[in-house]
Amino acid sequence: MTTKKHIPKLNFSTDWSYAPAPEGTDHIQLNQSYDLFIGGKFVKPESGKYFPTLNPANGQKIADIAEGSSGDVDRAVKSARQAYEKYWKKMKPADRGKYIYRLARMIQERAREFAVIESLDGGKPIRESRDIDIPLVAAHFFYYAGWADKLEYAFPNRKPQSLGVAGQIIPWNFPLLMAAWKLAPALATGNTVVLKPAETTPLTALKLAELIQEADLPPGVVNIVTGAGETGAALVKHPDIDKIAFTGSTEVGKLIQTATAGSGKKVTLELGGKAANIIFEDATIDQAVEGIINGIYFNQGHVCCAGSRLFVQESVENLVIQKLKDRMETLIVGDPLDKNTDIGAINSAEQLAKIESYIELGKKEGAEFYQSNMPIPNGGGNWCRPTLFTKTAQSHQIVQEEIFGPVLAVQSFRTIDEVVEKANNTPYGLSAGVWTDKGSKIFHLTNRMRAGVIWANTYNKFDPTAPFGGYKESGFGREGGLHGLAPYLKF
Ligand code: NAP
Ligand code: MG
Repeated sequence: MTTKKHIPKLNFSTDWSYAPAPEGTDHIQLNQSYDLFIGGKFVKPESGKYFPTLNPANGQKIADIAEGSSGDVDRAVKSARQAYEKYWKKMKPADRGKYIYRLARMIQERAREFAVIESLDGGKPIRESRDIDIPLVAAHFFYYAGWADKLEYAFPNRKPQSLGVAGQIIPWNFPLLMAAWKLAPALATGNTVVLKPAETTPLTALKLAELIQEADLPPGVVNIVTGAGETGAALVKHPDIDKIAFTGSTEVGKLIQTATAGSGKKVTLELGGKAANIIFEDATIDQAVEGIINGIYFNQGHVCCAGSRLFVQESVENLVIQKLKDRMETLIVGDPLDKNTDIGAINSAEQLAKIESYIELGKKEGAEFYQSNMPIPNGGGNWCRPTLFTKTAQSHQIVQEEIFGPVLAVQSFRTIDEVVEKANNTPYGLSAGVWTDKGSKIFHLTNRMRAGVIWANTYNKFDPTAPFGGYKESGFGREGGLHGLAPYLKF
């Protein structure tokens, strides 16, 4: 039953704006070109080829990046193997921990520089890279440094041992944070690493390589090979890799699983998502709306666990949609380096084209389309206004498929059984959110949802102590917390 509620209409004028408050770039140091980081040194790629990394806010080149070939991957794996046998495996666990603590402290000291480079290279608002990404990067290194000499307490009576060399492949949405999620547990458990950053966001990983040199980590313990998909594929195929950790699309995850089948390599896959955010009529509606906005428009919707599907209980549907639209009108799309910016630049022209094609598809599928009216920058760069589709159906592709952009699809529901069935009805199962005043409802629902992480009355909260990972086509294995140690150990 739909109860009619009085919905106050708010008047948002779009002719005002905040004075720009851009973060300075004079304190950062970037080279014109970056080589591969192998054996503790920056070395030229054997092909001599480089590719540009662009600033998605203006399309301009920031630096040239070495393109790693399979030969380069082989050099990196050999160097990681040598470092494993010669130094890392033999080192006292407490000493390994000291190196990781040192890295954590150095990242904190250079946090501002890392935050600015992350926003320049990837397009995310400086508020996020400064307040979320980089502090979490340091937190992950601190957290796992603490485990280095306590593995026997983490797994009592099981004699945990390192695996050897880990190949790690990461995406562009949280570049340095994904590097930290991968490196910190691998190093703490005594493994050495070859890391392949995403093609569009290699810079912070390469700055981290400089820090690794300064921290005096034994050469070859961490190697960083930049390049495109083929570089990642070469790493996956390399016969002397003991473990592959991958975060990225479900499509590439499937290729990796096929490529590693029967090889004896350990594999963890953190893949896509299509999270359901569920608002019950007894929720604190304003708080929920703020959480929904954060859940989908945070980081331009470039978030695997983004709350990209919204289920609203029918009695509050109109109220919630009106409040969402009002709030969307106040979101500032603009310069990632400006501290006022809520939504930065879409990471690449290809990703923008993909998002726009889904927006067209949503209109064709018959959903009701709404975009905010705030101005967007017009001097180049990749931009997308926050977008809302209402009156969507379970069968719509915009409801089933991951868009990985600031596009929210809304449906209504009446009963718990109905919403659980709808929420679980996608190929994914990474995360979900529930908004209600009743603790019992939260537990009842979370037990029936097939999602690795479920937030209650909040969204997109991360902590190094909490495991993260998916069900179904969202992948397998957990990263973070004590659970995140196990995939790097044998017993
Ligand atoms: P992607 O295309 O799968 O790329 C991820 C990484 O894999 C990149 O470094 C990529 O290199 C590399 N790669 C591409 N093809 C490869 C191959 N055949 N073999 C080995 N490596 C290969 O994903 P993306 O578009 O960068 O990232 C978005 C996806 O990541 C979304 O689906 C999102 O949900 C998922 N994601 C999941 C999580 C999670 O924790 N579950 C977290 C973040 C993102 P290039 O950059 O050169 O293509
Ligand atoms: Mg870039």
